[in-house]
Amino acid sequence: MSSYQVLARKYRPVDFNSLIGQDALVQTLTNAITLNRLAHSFILTGVRGVGKTTSARIIAKGLNCIGPDGSSKESMHPCNLCEPCKSIQSGRHVDILEMDAASNTGVDDIREIIDSSVYRPVSARYKVYIIDEIHMLSKNAFNALLKTLEEPSESVKFIFATTEIRKVPLTILSRCQRFDLRRVPISLLQEHLTKIAQAERIETQPEAIRLIAYAAEGSVRDSLSLLDQASALGANNISVSLVEDMLGHASTNTLLELLKSCFIGEIQTALETLKKAIDVGAEPEQIISDLMDLAHQASLIASNSNLENISDAALENLTVISNFGIPRLARCWQILLKGHQEIKLAPRPEAAAEMLIIRLVYTSPMPTPSEILEKLPNVLAEEAQANIEKTSKERSLTEQSTLSPETSTNSIFQSKTPSVENLLDVVKICEQQGHLILASNIRNYVEPINFNTPRIEICLAKGAPDDLPSKITQILNTNSDTKWEVIVGVKSDSPTLKEEEDLAKKKELSAAYEHPIAKDVLKTFPGTKITEVITEIQSEDHQSSSLLERSDLKTNLEQSEI
Ligand SMILES: [Zn+2]
Repeated sequence: MSSYQVLARKYRPVDFNSLIGQDALVQTLTNAITLNRLAHSFILTGVRGVGKTTSARIIAKGLNCIGPDGSSKESMHPCNLCEPCKSIQSGRHVDILEMDAASNTGVDDIREIIDSSVYRPVSARYKVYIIDEIHMLSKNAFNALLKTLEEPSESVKFIFATTEIRKVPLTILSRCQRFDLRRVPISLLQEHLTKIAQAERIETQPEAIRLIAYAAEGSVRDSLSLLDQASALGANNISVSLVEDMLGHASTNTLLELLKSCFIGEIQTALETLKKAIDVGAEPEQIISDLMDLAHQASLIASNSNLENISDAALENLTVISNFGIPRLARCWQILLKGHQEIKLAPRPEAAAEMLIIRLVYTSPMPTPSEILEKLPNVLAEEAQANIEKTSKERSLTEQSTLSPETSTNSIFQSKTPSVENLLDVVKICEQQGHLILASNIRNYVEPINFNTPRIEICLAKGAPDDLPSKITQILNTNSDTKWEVIVGVKSDSPTLKEEEDLAKKKELSAAYEHPIAKDVLKTFPGTKITEVITEIQSEDHQSSSLLERSDLKTNLEQSEI
């Protein structure tokens, strides 16, 4: 009776054709061999179980394969039939040395390798040293190794593997050809596991396989260990519930129910479902991670992406969730992602999970950004209107102004065909169209005498540019159907807009000193001066913002030296 061989070992790839998910690595190596540009030392990096040492052994075989008839050169597709291939495969080739740096970290451990590397290989084409977890070597060991790497012997190759490339000194890295092994995608793992299960005559449900592939986080070895474990537990029958139990997952139905309650805002049900899942043994962190998985899958369905290897029942359930729409699902995923990180740090993960669910329930009914945008013009218009009404009321009580609020309303909401009824309207048009110098000149130098559309009578203050009247005529004519006439008079009783604004600002400042909050501040910090009154901006549109008059007095206080 033969003893049971674990799947990860039994299905360990013997060549690059059976190594899944590392096409880039295989291509680069094959090219290097074809062009005869193979480095003396390689470093393979990637998360655990993606095939680093497996690749190292395949490379060792490829370098030494002589082919079934003994005449082949090195290739990245070893025959696995010749003597070198066979003995390397079984780990008994004298010229191929494997070392685990995790348990041999010191300089003495590396010395043996360094000393023997000067001798020619006994029978192989190349002497190959495979050092796993190279980052674990001590500083002295690295230094000793470096000397050998600097003066490599023609017939020696070094293959290093590491999960933590950042811990490998740059001096070593710079002498190695580097290969990054990728996490194997879930779909590829699913495919791989399904094939193996079939070959092993293990009954599986597609969703069970997907859960295993998902849990393996891109590691082939981990996925095969989980498959092993599940088939042992289920006596060669792997069901979804078996895998859920094995992985400490809450059942998918429970999780779907939980997610749905969050979306429809049923906080009681959501918290009860969470508790139920935790009570049957699922870890809070795992629950949140599984919810993320569901939100992700539902988003894929919502975006019409293909979900492979998913059961009809699961698809039906996920479709219910996907109907909440991509914006909500995306926001949910973000909240879960952030919460997942918090749970890891939380002293009481269960409480953190509860808080996360509560947050999710409360944000779910909130409008998404696109819904807000849809409503935005109305909201803004209403707010602006309310402000203007309020302002004009205040204004009629406090001060007289040459600015008519009705005009302002018009220029905000009908900006495409602006009505021009006073000088400020002219300035607005200039500003809106980017004629900022003209706008500033009008503010500073134009004193209105008479404004009767389409005829304006103005007086120019000292220093005004000569062509100002013609520029004003021009801008007005290009912006309306009427033909405008700008007449320059001699004397005006009205101030320029700038003077008017300065006056208004002065009034505003003195009013600010009377504001209750300002009074409190001034009392608490004697010697404080109010330097500016900032109008709260209610609109995204800067041009119109100054028209939305101060609805709330905000004071900018500056502490003066005492
Ligand atoms: Zn061979």
